Amino acid sequence: MVLEKIKEILEKCVRCGKCRARCPSLDASDEGTPRWEIYSPRGRMRLAEGLLEGKVTPTRKLQDALYTCFVCNQCVEECPSMAGISDVIIETRRQLVKGGNAPEDVVQVQDTIIESSNIFDMEQEERVELWSMDVEELVEGKINKPADLLYFVGCQASFRGNLARIPVRMVQILEKLDINYTLLGEQEECCGDPLELTGASKEEIKALASRNIEKIKKLGVKEVIFTCPGCYRMFKQVYPEILGMVLTFKMSMISEFLLAKIKTGDIDLSSIPAGRVVYHDPCELGRHMSMYDPPRELIKSIPGIDFVEFKENRENSVCCGMGGGVAMHDRHVSNLQARKKAHAIDESEAEIVITHCPACFQGISNATMRIEKEDNSTVRVMDLVELIALAMGIKD
Ligand code: SF4
Ligand code: SF4
Repeated sequence: MVLEKIKEILEKCVRCGKCRARCPSLDASDEGTPRWEIYSPRGRMRLAEGLLEGKVTPTRKLQDALYTCFVCNQCVEECPSMAGISDVIIETRRQLVKGGNAPEDVVQVQDTIIESSNIFDMEQEERVELWSMDVEELVEGKINKPADLLYFVGCQASFRGNLARIPVRMVQILEKLDINYTLLGEQEECCGDPLELTGASKEEIKALASRNIEKIKKLGVKEVIFTCPGCYRMFKQVYPEILGMVLTFKMSMISEFLLAKIKTGDIDLSSIPAGRVVYHDPCELGRHMSMYDPPRELIKSIPGIDFVEFKENRENSVCCGMGGGVAMHDRHVSNLQARKKAHAIDESEAEIVITHCPACFQGISNATMRIEKEDNSTVRVMDLVELIALAMGIKD
């Protein structure tokens, strides 16, 4: 986004302060009391303006104000002028990175992604090896082979041990449905979402995007499926803009893909002993991509499921604390947000929380650890893919 566009958004702001009401980072203090105006969406807009006009100098406080935003888009929902506040925050972060004024911890993560093509500084050779250890026979022959369908796994699920549950169940589902698919394997590179959220250079994001797209095109893929909303958003919203091209293959979150199969009668789901189930809307899928219904419809298609909603759901869903790269810069603020999510989970009285995002799985798992139930029972966290696999009779 060019500076002119930021100015346009800034001009929309009438300083009414409505965006402050539900900003999760504004009251992220130990005492639960609101923080300084610079930690509010309106304050961040003013900081952006000041920086743009050269009236404000980048300080540590300014870095903190801009990098404790979860990019959750709650403020955008509240703003009567429909100002793209989080766009301004991301672009202001980009100006800080460009000028060498971004926080060191954030720059380190960006450098890691650029150098290793993944967020964990792991060897790319391990991209499939690690998560598929227990289902080796299923992925054998699936790497980099021409196919109509490609599953883009993403960094989190590929490298973060406890998240392997997502791709494992995903390939088991595809196998059970007898669907031919391919994986990019070690050729898959970070989608660039953490770079985009933290304001890395567009050129670096573009480089990753073009390499991913080129490899996918080579395989003649007609549809790409995702289990991570960050990857999905990058492909569907950011790649076309950054690459200046229309992507010709279809892009689907796995909930859309599986729901379509249920509607055509290709999937039979059986009742499972799940208890009370609540669904958490990931910020990047809900408020950023307006996808609220397919995951809910999918959960409700399991016979006899006891589905409940959070008090604050859909457009008002409470961020789990893992958004916007805040955990990279200020773990404390991220943890305080997880505590708020824990309260919402406890209030829902659900026995299972369904997530639809690997990062949210982490955030919600952190949150549930904080719930102390009177009967000592615990709240179970499951990814949507795991729940569907269970209802399809897929077990270890
Ligand atoms: S709600 Fe919109 S118009 Fe009002 S202060 Fe916030 S950004 Fe500005
Ligand atoms: S995107 Fe979320 S955390 Fe950031 S300013 Fe807006 S409401 Fe606050």
